[in-house]
Amino acid sequence: KSESKSKVPKEGVFPEIIRENYIGSQKLSGKKALISGGDSGIGQAVAVHFAREGADIAIIYKENDKDAKETKKLVEKEGPKCILLKGDISMKTFRTECLNKIRKEWKGLDILVNNAGVQFPKNKIENISDKQIQQTFNINIISMIALTRDCISLLKKGGRIICTTSVTAYRGSDHLIDYSSTKGAITTFIRSLAVNLAERKILVNGVAPGPIWTPLVKETFENLSTFGKDNPLKRAGQPSEVAPAYVFLASEDSSFITGEIIHVNGGDFVGG
Ligand code: NAD
Repeated sequence: KSESKSKVPKEGVFPEIIRENYIGSQKLSGKKALISGGDSGIGQAVAVHFAREGADIAIIYKENDKDAKETKKLVEKEGPKCILLKGDISMKTFRTECLNKIRKEWKGLDILVNNAGVQFPKNKIENISDKQIQQTFNINIISMIALTRDCISLLKKGGRIICTTSVTAYRGSDHLIDYSSTKGAITTFIRSLAVNLAERKILVNGVAPGPIWTPLVKETFENLSTFGKDNPLKRAGQPSEVAPAYVFLASEDSSFITGEIIHVNGGDFVGG
């Protein structure tokens, strides 16, 4: 069968969140999942896939109420409930509010998806400001470690932590120097935390997407017509093509996998 048209990203066309023919088989039935950056792009696709697999969802998002409400609608159309948590993940007070709400509503947590991230437009090293470096590290890695630490007491035995890293963690990026450095740190965080939490039977893994058609890249890349064209599959991917990797890592199917990274990148980089 030839590649479906919906898989080929086009400028101005909203990314595909879930394939029409994605069959959920209740792999996450009754589970409770917290997803940072769950209102748009990859995080939104993960929220909707998890919901189709039966999990209740809480999403952390920074500011876009319209996207958050749309995600809630999409999740609840699948059956499960969706809690919206609006705020800045780098603020301790906000993280505490999130945890209090989850403790009250759910008592515990089965799955934490650390996915929120920022990326600033292409820059030569000499043009990167201190503010940009601090912001990129603060959101992408420092807040990820802090949120994870805060959630540990809520995570049940057998729980899952899944972090979004990036192909840039492996091959570097000449124009996203600060961003790719944070993703390298996330990759090391995943491996270290996996060992740290093994005794408590909490599995920690990551997904390293290559070029994926989301609002993040629309804001960052000047020339969207060439975005993703230099990988072997010669195209960018859709959020709907990344989310199933998260489902696998959240489900019983991955019960003997920890400290690993799944690469979803059209062959852009194979290894790790
Ligand atoms: P996106 O812009 O759609 O999503 C980013 C999310 O992060 C948003 O939902 C936003 O609400 C959240 N966020 C940002 N700052 C926040 C803050 N301070 N507090 C709370 N939430 C905050 O982009 P995306 O492409 O879906 O990105 C999701 C993840 O995937 C990021 O970690 C990104 O680095 C990673 N990634 C993306 C690509 C790609 O090509 N799109 C490739 C590799 C990795």
